Amino acid sequence: MSIRSCHRLLKTGACVCFFLPTLLQSQVIIRERVEIRPQLDTPSVPITKQLLMTINSSVLRLDLSFSGSLQPDYPSNFYISRNACQSGGLIFLRDPGRSISVPALASAYSYGATIWAFAGASATFMLYLDGELLARHDYPNLPAKARYFFPHYQQLFESFTFVAGDTLIAEGEQATFDINGVTNAVCAPSVWHPELQMTLTIVSGQELGGFIDENGDTLGSSVIRKGSEMKQIRFYAKPPKPAAGGGSAGTGNLVVIETASKGITRTVKIRIKPGLKIKLVVADKTLQPLGDSDNKDNPDLTEKETRPKVIDFSRVKTTTVTVKVVDSEEKPVSDYDFTMRALVRDASGGHDHSEGRPTGRFVTEENDTLAEVEGKTGADGEAKYTYLCSGIGGIDSIFVQGRTPYDTATATITLKVGDLELMTDGEHYDLVGAYGESGVNSQHRVNHYGTPRLIQKLKALADSVHADSSYVLRINDMSLQYGGPFDTENDWDTPHENHREGVNADVSYTDARGKRIREKYFELKTNKLGGKVKSHGHFHVTYR
Ligand SMILES: [Zn+2]
Ligand SMILES: [Zn+2]
Repeated sequence: MSIRSCHRLLKTGACVCFFLPTLLQSQVIIRERVEIRPQLDTPSVPITKQLLMTINSSVLRLDLSFSGSLQPDYPSNFYISRNACQSGGLIFLRDPGRSISVPALASAYSYGATIWAFAGASATFMLYLDGELLARHDYPNLPAKARYFFPHYQQLFESFTFVAGDTLIAEGEQATFDINGVTNAVCAPSVWHPELQMTLTIVSGQELGGFIDENGDTLGSSVIRKGSEMKQIRFYAKPPKPAAGGGSAGTGNLVVIETASKGITRTVKIRIKPGLKIKLVVADKTLQPLGDSDNKDNPDLTEKETRPKVIDFSRVKTTTVTVKVVDSEEKPVSDYDFTMRALVRDASGGHDHSEGRPTGRFVTEENDTLAEVEGKTGADGEAKYTYLCSGIGGIDSIFVQGRTPYDTATATITLKVGDLELMTDGEHYDLVGAYGESGVNSQHRVNHYGTPRLIQKLKALADSVHADSSYVLRINDMSLQYGGPFDTENDWDTPHENHREGVNADVSYTDARGKRIREKYFELKTNKLGGKVKSHGHFHVTYR
């Protein structure tokens, strides 16, 4: 400190600096910083006993024991830090005898101390990993004001990970697991440590397969490999048994592999599914939903609306559904039991409601009609059923499950009246009655599908009555997108007579401005264009 700077400090009142050397003269012996690099720790020497596995839970601890006196006016500290990436910890010392701990996540750390002591003090540093002493440094008779650097430890810690989740393979297939691991440099990608040894053992399910090497040679149910020799392990599942009804029975198909290194274990599971294949074949991918003429209670329009309370399966379209089971060589598997269910896709076919939706049915040998059947393949590996479709426009779905949760097959059948188009807005009519409009409970958001002929005729009719009388027609329900029963009360009954084939439209008695349309007039106009009208609360218009 120069005289000039001391004068400046005096002006600010920090007069202590001026008198300090005099006051402490007898105690301060060496004023230069002394650096000591202990020779026993050199970075180039690998410390093999410190190749310890850590997986996020290890703690690196540095203890300092100290005898003597610290200089109270200078900051002494000791520290442990993770190289390059981030610092670990730093403690400023007031009292000697401290401990500092950091999570041992990296592979290399440095640690050290700056001690401003009175001469004659002594210090001991001890480095622990999870309580195990890794290194000890003794410094008796320290010079005053000493600074100690300890070297970095390369490859001090390592870690490994298995990039392998639980896996599903079929009999006869292979599973390959990557085993990544071992950081040997901080902030560097994980690489194998060549000396790290790993053990893989099949602890359960040995009868289902075993380890194989890159050439397909069998390695048995336990392998020990060094990192330099293995980055992957393969498991080979035994092929299915060729006997009839073969394949695994669906139980005991779990293989558990335990991987271990440095006392740390992890488990990988492999599920083996039978190598058998279930196929579901439907003869017709598209069927007609129930049409106007299938409305047996009311095939022709009458004043009275009557409804079938359930789908009349004597009127729905049918197709053949075949369950086929083959082994891995495509040979038929007989006596294979399965469950098959008839389902429907929610909201399909323009029905924006799902509750209670009818499904199709299978006809059993006893002539029952069931939504779920249990069956078995015959000598040809097949089982055939007559399928009665749900009758509702939309997607019927069939699901078959074999002996395990993994042996499944599905098929869909579209129930649809062909060639229906959506009527678009026009100048002389309003399209009304969609779900979401005020007062509409029918859960069908799109209710204006029809044949091209119906749409063309309705537009002509609207133009015609507008030209005569300036009416703007209010066109309500026509048909749903796929046709079929139009259940305005959302109960899969059919309150709408017809409206199933895209040839009907309901037109309100009053026009868009509230004007009542005379019935005789409207019928005349409809007939003139080749259509028919029935009046029952509204005009029910038909153009076939
Ligand atoms: Zn519906
Ligand atoms: Zn109608």
